[in-house]
Amino acid sequence: MPLEQKPLGFDSAALEPSIDKQTMEIHYGKHYAAYVNNYNDAVKKQPELDGKPLHEVLAKDCAMVKEEIKTAVRNNGGGAHNHALFWEILNPAGKPGAEPVGKLADAIKRDFGGFAQFKEKFEAAAKTRFGSGWAWLIKKGDKLEVISTANQDSPIMQGAFPVIGLDVWEHAYYLKYQNRRPDYITAWWNVVNWKVADDRFGRAK
Ligand code: MN
Repeated sequence: MPLEQKPLGFDSAALEPSIDKQTMEIHYGKHYAAYVNNYNDAVKKQPELDGKPLHEVLAKDCAMVKEEIKTAVRNNGGGAHNHALFWEILNPAGKPGAEPVGKLADAIKRDFGGFAQFKEKFEAAAKTRFGSGWAWLIKKGDKLEVISTANQDSPIMQGAFPVIGLDVWEHAYYLKYQNRRPDYITAWWNVVNWKVADDRFGRAK
């Protein structure tokens, strides 16, 4: 069974003004669709991967994937997985100033000292990721950490659980923010779904 696109769950204009409608339409309908389609194409060359959960396929730098399709699976399977997470943690009802909730809030306080300190670290990771990639809040072992990855690499590839992630590819912001990645990062906090982030944290292994 081929991988399917995760439904967006809200209207593409619902994140305005933080993330604009046209960006969401192209991001979801073109970029994300391409990752899913290209992943399905690649997997045709290794049929036993068909229907396997992506997080298993991506684990340990795609250890179960044969050499011939490893790069395609890494890029497109990673892209499919990262974007599914990205849609999940966006909140059309988000408000400026929203902060983490529940056990995640406690863990952020424990591991970073507080939300402000975490936010500073996360923004630095997002701003300094050269070229295309992602900034992440991950759970690794018992601790939360902030990292960034290049391209469509997922924290899952290095044995970490992604709690939230921010897409800093230009396709995620260029139409509205052009070269102003920091402004996009600032606006993105307004639409993070902290309830979902806390649920994800609760599921982290
Ligand atoms: Mn993207």
